[in-house]
Amino acid sequence: MTKFSDLDLDPRVLQAISEAGYETPTPIQAQAIPEALKGRDVLGIAQTGTGKTASFTLPMITLLGQGRARARMPRSLVLAPTRELAAQVAENFDIYAKHTKLTKALLIGGVAFGEQDKLIDRGVDVLIATPGRLLDHFERGKLLLTGVQIMVVDEADRMLDMGFIPDIERIFQLTPFSRQTMFYSATMAPEIERITNTFLTNPARIEVARQATTGTNIEQRLITFTPTRKDRTFTEKRAVLRELIRAEGEACTNGIVFCNRKVDVDVLAKSLKAHGFNAAPIHGDLDQSQRTKTLDAFRDGGLHILVASDVAARGLDIPAVSHVFNFDVPSHPEDYVHRIGRTGRAGRSGRAITIAVPADDKLVKAIESLVKQEIPRGALPEGLDLAAAGSDRPPREDRRGTRDRDRDRSRGRDREPKKPRVEEAAVPVVVEAVEIEVEKPSAAAAAPAAAAAPAAAPARDERREPRREREDRRDDRRDRDDRREDRRDRRDRREDGPAVVGMGDHVPEFILRSFALPERPPADDSAAFEEEAPAEQPVHAEEE
Ligand code: AMP
Repeated sequence: MTKFSDLDLDPRVLQAISEAGYETPTPIQAQAIPEALKGRDVLGIAQTGTGKTASFTLPMITLLGQGRARARMPRSLVLAPTRELAAQVAENFDIYAKHTKLTKALLIGGVAFGEQDKLIDRGVDVLIATPGRLLDHFERGKLLLTGVQIMVVDEADRMLDMGFIPDIERIFQLTPFSRQTMFYSATMAPEIERITNTFLTNPARIEVARQATTGTNIEQRLITFTPTRKDRTFTEKRAVLRELIRAEGEACTNGIVFCNRKVDVDVLAKSLKAHGFNAAPIHGDLDQSQRTKTLDAFRDGGLHILVASDVAARGLDIPAVSHVFNFDVPSHPEDYVHRIGRTGRAGRSGRAITIAVPADDKLVKAIESLVKQEIPRGALPEGLDLAAAGSDRPPREDRRGTRDRDRDRSRGRDREPKKPRVEEAAVPVVVEAVEIEVEKPSAAAAAPAAAAAPAAAPARDERREPRREREDRRDDRRDRDDRREDRRDRRDRREDGPAVVGMGDHVPEFILRSFALPERPPADDSAAFEEEAPAEQPVHAEEE
């Protein structure tokens, strides 16, 4: 078996990895490091958890050991798709390079430009960046990429999902042709294949076994239920999730809840909080300091439930997560493997519980065919009354409790409890009647009602009706918002930038047409031309 000492790494790197407690190189390290040290391009087909970060960081540190950084001209560049992944690479670099004098800068969105500018001005050996922020610095004239000797692209398939490929191509073109490239992707989509064919030279292709099997130390369960009404799916899934978390009790020391859409991440986190859970969201639209704070709190145990999107949570190295809840069945089967792989790490046991509705059947089948096993089916938590779960609002005590806790927290007096309080575990799913606010009928409306129901108070069902209707409307609105958000997400990924705001979702077709300018009329009759020309002009410039 290969040992680190066989790999020709800088002795200072060897010392750092032995201090980190690594004994033997992982397969991707054993194969990629010797090739990289020879100066060859490397194409690594591997995903998080395989030790791929060290497979490019260790040879990079060794190769950069000689030479000095020049102002504004980083000697190497690592591109990662998300801020968290870039920050994680930077942390790894700090560990492995601690006995060297190499310098690094981390260029990620959400962090002020000033500090980053200062570091780059002084000159850095390693620049770790997300593509957008790197190009921002470049365009502001703060950075030259002509000194890059080694360039790493990490998680290229995620870059593709996020629409970063044009940025990556541009960055490749800004670096010298003679650079060494190390390129990592978990899958080789045709677009990724094209990029590697274009920008890598005779790469050593190293593929490590796909982790398409799920760890045996992860206990999986699939809970399928049929919503009472289609438009209540989101609301009832939230009720199911709450009961599932409560049913896990003390065993759930912390958990990540995955949603397919980032708009749901926010709504779900708010809803969980309102129900007394210690939950917070993480997704790409939150500002960096908020994301870092949330992740730190989750790592330290101060946050019990992290509600996340795939992109935000992909590749995050959080060692002790007891539970993963899939609020949605992931649309890409590989994401199921990534998601549940957040638990059961480093030999610990973990639980992964997936909530599904009958419409998810195809997705479930796709996952089961990928992982080559059937996900064991589980039942809905006992006592869960879906029909009564139509309301998503917490019981009054919980609402008051949350407000009080928020106030205490803002006064710096309190931290939220790490897990749902014991009494919450016993709180059944909210029954609508608990939270009915009696609406004051208008005088005209009150008269017939009083005649029909001479009793002092109207019957419960009569009072419940308006709330139900309001909730139905709210659900409809939310569904519309979700669809709009999805469309916006898709538009934002397009190269032509976000759509113009102001016309709603419907843009009349004529607005999208180009207009031809008329040929310049003779000077003397221009006034008359301006009057008449518009009606005569052809609309399609391209067709002329
Ligand atoms: P990565 O795939 O780069 O995200 O690495 C996953 C985890 O494996 C990280 O926590 C690394 O610290 C750890 N790791 C990387 N290489 C080794 C190794 N050779 N031995 C033990 N742990 C490692």
